[in-house]
Amino acid sequence: MKFGGSSVAGTERLRGVAALARARAAKGDAVLLVLSAMSKVTDSLFAAGRAAESRDEAAALATFEEIIGRHEAAAAELFGGDPPEAVKAALARAREEIVPVLRGAALLGTLPERSKDLLVGRGELLSTALLAAYMEATWLDARTVLRTDSRFGQARPRPEAIKHLASFTLLPLLGPGRIVVTQGYIGADDAGVPTTLGRGGSDYSASLFGAAIEAAEIQIWTDVEGVLTGDPRVVEGARPVEILGYDEAAELAAFGAKVLHPATILPAVELGIPVTVRNTMLPEGKFTTISKESASGLPVTALASRGPVTVVTVRNPRMLGGAGFLSRIFEVFGRRGVSVDLVSTSEVSVSVTVDEGAAQLEALVAELGSFADVRVEKDRAIVALVGEELKRTPGVTGAAFGALRDINVEMISLGSNEINLSLVVALKDAAEAQRRLHAALFGSAATALFGSAATALFGSAATALFGSAATALFGSADTAVAGSSRKEGS
Ligand code: ADP
Ligand code: ASP
Ligand code: MG
Repeated sequence: MKFGGSSVAGTERLRGVAALARARAAKGDAVLLVLSAMSKVTDSLFAAGRAAESRDEAAALATFEEIIGRHEAAAAELFGGDPPEAVKAALARAREEIVPVLRGAALLGTLPERSKDLLVGRGELLSTALLAAYMEATWLDARTVLRTDSRFGQARPRPEAIKHLASFTLLPLLGPGRIVVTQGYIGADDAGVPTTLGRGGSDYSASLFGAAIEAAEIQIWTDVEGVLTGDPRVVEGARPVEILGYDEAAELAAFGAKVLHPATILPAVELGIPVTVRNTMLPEGKFTTISKESASGLPVTALASRGPVTVVTVRNPRMLGGAGFLSRIFEVFGRRGVSVDLVSTSEVSVSVTVDEGAAQLEALVAELGSFADVRVEKDRAIVALVGEELKRTPGVTGAAFGALRDINVEMISLGSNEINLSLVVALKDAAEAQRRLHAALFGSAATALFGSAATALFGSAATALFGSAATALFGSADTAVAGSSRKEGS
């Protein structure tokens, strides 16, 4: 059971978590609780680090003291005047270890990556100290199990090592009805140096732990009723998706559905462990089950959006009929470590999207410019339509374009697994694009259309209707169309 920041935000929430875990343990299950830091604590730790780096020691220490104060206040509420020794020790150790790091960084004007991980991972150690003491459950230091490489800030886990370490460190603690409390987000490398998995990484920790102990279920408890049909911060009527395939969930997470860290699904897939996404505030409410099957029945299961991204278009008229141009381009991306998300090709050009602010982007563009024309377009966003049925439903593209109307689509890509149709729009249009697509694909009009009357929109009549519209769109000169998605237009 993984609980995110808002699920452990205060004492009332911590009591709720304890109740949920106890209810589960009372059924005879062994429960491993994987907690995030209390909400906003990780942000504040990063802020303290930035203040130190800019040599503002006073601000750095004040920010850190605020965090300590918040946990002290929570402890006072949970335990009355005198918190248990374990909680006092965790708070004391936080001061002992973190204050010198901040002082040192302020003195030098720099915070080395490894010290930063020690700093920003502290919130999880504190939230778990509080809950374990409150529940009188076993507290486990995740760093003794969650082995990673040494890429500080974005460490990659070593599943084999984690499984091995869990077998003698964690499994013996997990009998029927037992509860163990540990941290998400943090791990340690081979030398025992603390690392973090990157922002939002607690979901990933939960599934890594779940796979290591071959859990019956991995539960992600958060502040929404599961994975919704769109980003609730953008789309007002986003609804819970009841059942989601592993592939669909992985695509949604990769394309911006913040509710799941992009890597969450991977460890679960191999062992076929179901992942459920549940609402801490409404434990008996709706939730999403992510497993092998997908059953939305709709052509699109959910939408996601990610931005800002940058579109890089590389064009070489001499490439016409030539071989090896793509390999030459991608070799440059690979060598410079710039990761590509969407790719779309035409006869003489290739467009790709990369994360805005990707390191080495400027150098990469300069290098590509030495043998081709390069165009860079910043402040774009990807809006992704994800669904297992996408490949079996003709006309989705047409429906999507119909809904977008005047919003310019600059690039289209149908993922090679054919369950993700991604559109690139200007960043400023992304929210509106998602709202319109949601209304068209999930609104009341869509429900009628996708029901028995689905033929109207996606049946043979629709092909005629959307065929011509698609031709108009696919013919447009400034729209790059992925080779694979051309098939769909016909
Ligand atoms: P936690 O702290 O529990 O990990 P997060 O804030 O990381 O919570 O993730 C939950 C949030 O993800 C939701 O509050 C919601 O705003 C956002 N979100 C974005 N897209 C989706 C989606 N498709 N379904 C559900 N939530 C989404
Ligand atoms: N606390 C970490 C963060 O805010 C990890 C997580 O919440 O998943 O990024
Ligand atoms: Mg999260």
